[in-house]
Amino acid sequence: MEYNPPVKKVLISGEQIDKRVKELADKISEDYKGRTPILVGILRGSVLFFSNLVKNLSIDCNLDFMCLASYSGTESSGKVRFILDMREDVKGRDVIIVEDIVDTGITGQYLLDLLKTRNPASVEICSLLDKPSNRQLEIKPKYVGFEIENEFVIGYGLDYNELYRNLPYIGVFDETKK
Ligand code: 5GP
Repeated sequence: MEYNPPVKKVLISGEQIDKRVKELADKISEDYKGRTPILVGILRGSVLFFSNLVKNLSIDCNLDFMCLASYSGTESSGKVRFILDMREDVKGRDVIIVEDIVDTGITGQYLLDLLKTRNPASVEICSLLDKPSNRQLEIKPKYVGFEIENEFVIGYGLDYNELYRNLPYIGVFDETKK
């Protein structure tokens, strides 16, 4: 069946993602050896990355989720809407926030500030993508899959108006198809 999503070009293939995610998982497994971190997937964008990452970890871990929203179309609203909280108690625990992309940094900073009020032992961010050139707040995720230019991307969990999260690669969105 033909499927023509609005992709100008494939930026990162599924194979490249698999390879890099395995490297990130190995690094996290090494860094957190002997501890049991809570990985918190930020819905909905991180869902494909999250499942790929956790199945490659070789340590005990807990899995949890939070749901946030900020984008509408290809523009960030600049405000974070909190939709669903996680269930685990993070007090005294090592937390790894798993995001699809760190762009302006507003979501990441919001999550760090929120989780720190709950007194975890540590909090780090692991993001599949990083767009440092569009940063408004000074945050630096500890684990990053790929650094990308300031282009709007879709696929592998990332959407345009709630579509195209299912693509098995990261593609540059074709703005002419808006
Ligand atoms: P922030 O600007 O707060 O760092 O990023 C918040 C959210 O905006 C990300 O988690 C992601 O859902 C969305 N976002 C940022 N850049 C892009 C992009 O290039 N494509 C898509 N689909 N979403 C993005």
